[in-house]
Amino acid sequence: MRELVEAIESPDSVPADVAALGVPDSYRAAVLHKADAGMFDGVPLHDRKPADSLHIEEVPTPEPGPGEVLVAVMASAVNYNTVWSALFAPVPTFALLERYARIGGLAARHDRPYHVIGSDLAGVVVRRGPGVRRWNVGDRVVAHCVSVELEAAEGHNDPMLDPEQRIWGYETNYGGLADLALVKATQLLPKAEHLTWEEAAAPGLVNSTAYRQLVTPNGAGMKQGDNVLIWGAVGGLGSYATQLALAGGANPICVVSSPEKAALARSLGAELIIDRNAEGYRFWSDPHTQDQKEWKRLGSRIRELTGGEDVDIVFEHPGRETFGASVYVTRKGGTIVTCASTAGYVHEYDNRYLWMSLKRIIGTHCANYREAWEANRLIAKGRIHPTLSRTYALDDVARAVESIHRNEHHGKVGVLCLAPGEGLGVRDPELRARHEPALHRFRETATPSDRARLSGVAA
Ligand code: NAP
Repeated sequence: MRELVEAIESPDSVPADVAALGVPDSYRAAVLHKADAGMFDGVPLHDRKPADSLHIEEVPTPEPGPGEVLVAVMASAVNYNTVWSALFAPVPTFALLERYARIGGLAARHDRPYHVIGSDLAGVVVRRGPGVRRWNVGDRVVAHCVSVELEAAEGHNDPMLDPEQRIWGYETNYGGLADLALVKATQLLPKAEHLTWEEAAAPGLVNSTAYRQLVTPNGAGMKQGDNVLIWGAVGGLGSYATQLALAGGANPICVVSSPEKAALARSLGAELIIDRNAEGYRFWSDPHTQDQKEWKRLGSRIRELTGGEDVDIVFEHPGRETFGASVYVTRKGGTIVTCASTAGYVHEYDNRYLWMSLKRIIGTHCANYREAWEANRLIAKGRIHPTLSRTYALDDVARAVESIHRNEHHGKVGVLCLAPGEGLGVRDPELRARHEPALHRFRETATPSDRARLSGVAA
């Protein structure tokens, strides 16, 4: 692996140098064990610890099959699906791997006693399976997290409707939190060359999800001037939704939970910010009863911030905790677009506010390859920036996952895999220089005064 990393990092190396090197028979990976799948049974989510379920160990290297490639992973990132995987919630991912294996053929390789998790990577193609033409050994790539088979007709207008659509590294094996990863060629995207490996690995899953959710006709189809309420506006999804809203000429109303997060939202260019903690919203008076007065208080606050307007779009993902309020505060004819239910997946809302006001609820999930390509293009052009706050070593991945489980993080949390340190992998220093300050907004080394200064920086 050391020679491979040297060949990748050498400014003089050519793809043939990478191709000439062997790939080891086994590699280091963050894995869950099938034998542990019941370890948290009966334990409340809050008390489950990723450190108890996650292991760093060597696993056998898979051979890329037709249409697949093996990637040397320089850096990866933690997504919330990594949290769900490590907590074995809502179901152990091994049930998902078994289901995949049942379709037969090469899919059977995914049902193993271990699950290599992780749904983002930045790295270099080191082996191509038969039939891969568009990508070569030596290509510097990031991976889109959606795996599709596309043998059925249903997925051919929108691949997210493929009956065999899966999230790589969550519903499939050989994910990105590892030194090598197996992906389909139809997941590959070019790496943004002004970014370091860890910056490049950060946006993938959440940026493409936020792009479909907010921007494309499959989601809310946001337009200029729209008021967009964004829950968790500087979290993983939200930090990209906020940027996409601003870049698209919309008006984000950013909900956060601390003054520090409010400062981060301001550093992105947002002006309308609600600190849900400081303002003390309690949408549920007890676990079974919502307090509609609190929905109305939020609606009044939004009108105060917007000069009397309601929201056109709510960017939803907390779920049970906020959904009733989200439906209430949306304007007549507006859209609630949801991709998740972090705080509970059985939602309650007052349907009178939906039908009488002709609102729409749209369900959305990740993004198809085309949408992911467009979202990645915005990153590559420096229109949307990674929101990496902190990077951990792969050996420390459990701590990285824990920080998200506890909502202690900002933006995205990165993981160094083969990259021997931070700051490597940049091939376009000129483009980088144009965006350097914006690339550091979320870094934990930035002080509040840095952020105030950075908020004046044009993206
Ligand atoms: P994240 O980085 O943890 O950010 C979520 C943010 O939501 C938090 O930072 C928090 O911000 C806010 N939040 C959390 N609990 C809340 C609550 N009870 N009420 C209001 N706000 C709350 O996670 P993420 O990466 O954005 O993912 C969020 C959810 O989306 C997860 O459930 C994830 O699995 C899901 N997801 C789905 C897809 C998909 O394709 N379907 C893709 C990506 C993620 P504040 O504390 O600052 O308010």
